[in-house]
Amino acid sequence: ATELSLDQLADWLRRFAQIVDENKTYLTELDSAIGDADHGANMARGTAAVVTHLDEANTIDALLKKAGMTLVSTVGGTSGPLYGTLLMKMGMATGAVTELSAEEFSKAFRAGLEGLVARGKTELGDKTMVDALTPAIDAYDAALADGADLHDAVESAAQAAAAGRDATTPLVARKGRASYLGERSAGHMDPGATSSTYLFDALSQVIGS
Ligand code: ADP
Ligand code: MG
Ligand code: MG
Repeated sequence: ATELSLDQLADWLRRFAQIVDENKTYLTELDSAIGDADHGANMARGTAAVVTHLDEANTIDALLKKAGMTLVSTVGGTSGPLYGTLLMKMGMATGAVTELSAEEFSKAFRAGLEGLVARGKTELGDKTMVDALTPAIDAYDAALADGADLHDAVESAAQAAAAGRDATTPLVARKGRASYLGERSAGHMDPGATSSTYLFDALSQVIGS
């Protein structure tokens, strides 16, 4: 397929919630090393709430905006408003459509990521979720530019997200609770960068099925 349908995007968020739930203990372990040991619980609560609203939307913009608002209002931690902004701004960029081309998905995702970066006042290398999301969408676009189809572009994105997540380990955190640790934050993988890779794992599952 070359397009993503409303149903596939709803499935994307459903699978994201599933992967988060399966890994919530792990995410919380990562957050206990450099944060306050709640990232798994935060994300599991928020994404489970998102799933309860997925059937309400008839258009992609409504789906993504509702999902984003739900994350903002249910997560509590810093990650909620940030993931929430990503999805809300993504929804604001798509219009009231029921399909997105591969290119349209990227445009919307980038609008969301810009919103997240602005809200988080963060940049690449701060040891946050941005360090997984940015290389992922860059790899996606590079794959499309090389003539890859949607499936292969998403695979490239998932691989780049994982590499970006791994690259957070040696970094000293400059944003969020981990930054309070200063140099002691180095040597630990960032929890938010880890949960971010699940967005692309989930998308890859939706497209592969
Ligand atoms: P909290 O730190 O409020 O307990 P979480 O534990 O749910 O929230 O989320 C922590 C994650 O949020 C971090 O691992 C990091 O990836 C991300 N994060 C924190 N602050 C920022 C920021 N300013 N910009 C982008 N991401 C951030
Ligand atoms: Mg936390
Ligand atoms: Mg917290």
